[in-house]
Amino acid sequence: METYERIESVIHGFKLSSLTYKRVMHLLHEEMKRGLCNKSHNRADIKMFPTFVRALPDGSEKGNFLALDLGGTNFRVLLVKLNGKDVDIQSKTYLIPQRVMLGTGIQLFDHIADCIKKFITEHDLQNQKLPLGFTFSFPCKQEGLAKARLSQWTKGFRCEGVVGEDICRLLHEALHRIKINSIEVVAVVNDAVGTLMSAAHSDRQCEIGLILGTGCNACYMESLENVGLWEEDRDHPNQVIINTEWGAFGDNGCLDFIRTEYDRELDNFSINPGKQIMEKMISGMYMGEIVRLVLERLAMDELLFSGIDKESELFIRGRFYTKYVSEIESDNDEFFRNTKQVLDELGIENYTSEDCKIVKYVCTLVSARAAFLSSAGIATLINRLKKKTMTIAIDGSLYRFHPRFHNLMVLKIRELVNPGHKFKLTLSHDGSGKGAALVAAVATRLHEKKIAVQ
Ligand code: ADP
Ligand code: MG
Repeated sequence: METYERIESVIHGFKLSSLTYKRVMHLLHEEMKRGLCNKSHNRADIKMFPTFVRALPDGSEKGNFLALDLGGTNFRVLLVKLNGKDVDIQSKTYLIPQRVMLGTGIQLFDHIADCIKKFITEHDLQNQKLPLGFTFSFPCKQEGLAKARLSQWTKGFRCEGVVGEDICRLLHEALHRIKINSIEVVAVVNDAVGTLMSAAHSDRQCEIGLILGTGCNACYMESLENVGLWEEDRDHPNQVIINTEWGAFGDNGCLDFIRTEYDRELDNFSINPGKQIMEKMISGMYMGEIVRLVLERLAMDELLFSGIDKESELFIRGRFYTKYVSEIESDNDEFFRNTKQVLDELGIENYTSEDCKIVKYVCTLVSARAAFLSSAGIATLINRLKKKTMTIAIDGSLYRFHPRFHNLMVLKIRELVNPGHKFKLTLSHDGSGKGAALVAAVATRLHEKKIAVQ
């Protein structure tokens, strides 16, 4: 076999036809319906959790709010000042050490409370009563706007004693342990929901939120009549945002027909094997590693980096960051400046221009599959919602920084949606901060209204 054919045989699994993506859409929609329906919900992989967020912001929201953003790479505390369309945000990022990510729930929430204490001290907010919106981006079954039980950890977190617990209660308890009583958690929000809320603040046609960051997830506005799990009142507004948690799509094996050997290997070595199958094919936490596994295979088969040192960093798990994929794909000429820089960083020596070309080719295939799978998900939602025009709000570093993700998605969604749908993909700014504050603001307003009526 020619070298070219041998390389193709290593990577052909990433090239999927439109028909295949349509099949994925069909399976996804079936699983979503199972998640929405009372009878099948417990067995469904896609949980379709109702969020208790039933109204989008109208721009009249006012006041000072704290927001927390926990759910992946960074942990942030934010002070959000809302005044109509004006939004002022101050924030600080804190590190969550690995030992805390894999420690106990008490340690995690004590750490969070400590960061909050530092933040309010720095901003001189100790004596202010502040409502807090908690962006907690893990699958949760919500029992109220400020009551959410963690259903499972994802994205590299695994703290003992939190699954099944109300995370609002855990946060309140940690705050009380360090004598902070002025903060009330009024809403738990998923980052996808925050992203949607943040964009909907200025765009009335926005009804879908998508995250392409550490993880991959989507939410959208659903009619209550379709939500079997809804047990609250069905008064106006007869809609609720559904947090799909579609990262778990494929956990029952239904995506096995498109998974490659690299997807399986990545999954086997993850801290949650068999879980979050769709997320593992798309999101920033995993994409670089998929590329690395393919490059490793090509190098082992002597199709790439001839004579590479067996001790090379290329062979270390997790060493090929997803940001490399963005950098490499930003090379637009025959000089391969970024690609060379990445290869230098990995300590690979004596590579050729042909090697650079192959590395870039692998990156384009892996990232295109990720973009197309997300597109299949978005197209499924657009077809379901049947609105003529719709905006999809997107947040996350993968979408933000990858040079072609946006364009690839526009092309693919256009191909996959039913005729007559117009759509727009927009970058949502600071969904987890502004979005959480908006949910908190709407909640406080509704609460005050209720008290006034009583
Ligand atoms: P989170 O989802 O935790 O809120 P981000 O949206 O910043 O955080 O996403 C972090 C993920 O994005 C990481 O997994 C990282 O690998 C990936 N990432 C960071 N920078 C880039 C980049 N330039 N291109 C593509 N992916 C990136
Ligand atoms: Mg985020």
